[in-house]
Amino acid sequence: MRKYKNIVILTGAGISAESGLATFRSEDGLWNKHRVEDVATIEAFYRNPDYVHEFYNEMRPELFNAQPNAAHKAITVLQEKYPANISVVTQNVDTLHEKAGNKNVYHIHGQINQMRCLNCGHVFETWGEFSSEDVCENCGIAAVLKPNIVFFGEDLLYMDKVDNLLRTCDLFLSVGTSGVVYPAAGFVQIAKMFGADTYEFNMEKTSNNRMFDEHIYGPAGTTLPEFVNKLLAEK
Ligand SMILES: [Zn+2]
Repeated sequence: MRKYKNIVILTGAGISAESGLATFRSEDGLWNKHRVEDVATIEAFYRNPDYVHEFYNEMRPELFNAQPNAAHKAITVLQEKYPANISVVTQNVDTLHEKAGNKNVYHIHGQINQMRCLNCGHVFETWGEFSSEDVCENCGIAAVLKPNIVFFGEDLLYMDKVDNLLRTCDLFLSVGTSGVVYPAAGFVQIAKMFGADTYEFNMEKTSNNRMFDEHIYGPAGTTLPEFVNKLLAEK
């Protein structure tokens, strides 16, 4: 009998950093050339949609070309070899989890390779470029396509599903997240309250969050494969 039946892995910018993707506000990142208020709020999108479209048009090729690293691949190995329900809840808008072959991935902040129609709710996958003149392929209305990225002022995605996963998991792993941005920072509390073992993987100590049973420091590309190997070796 394996120890765990339901596993939730929460991931943040730290897991993508090893794939060369600049974290949210790093100094040389695209984000540093723009103000969050101008490109990542729903008000900005209504005010100047083409400025916002341009920002994501510029971001898409980098994320299209990015390759998953050993941490993403370790999750695939775990999902393939460990007989449990294993879900990935990610704050990242890149698609590295999917590229690595991860299943059951929930992008709570949306994903870069999707557009959403604000008129009819239609969501579709694309790596193309967009402007405010583009027409929704479903309802035929123009000027309503928005990158399917959760902006400030919008609700996170899949929260009911995620809440359910957190309440029923018996192992919760947090990988490469700062642990300061809510609601994701509170996920560990829910998991812990409902009895899960909790592990944090980060480069360094980032918070005083005592909800974690264990903190594992170092690059996730090293620490996560080691942890997965240990889990698989346990009988
Ligand atoms: Zn539409």
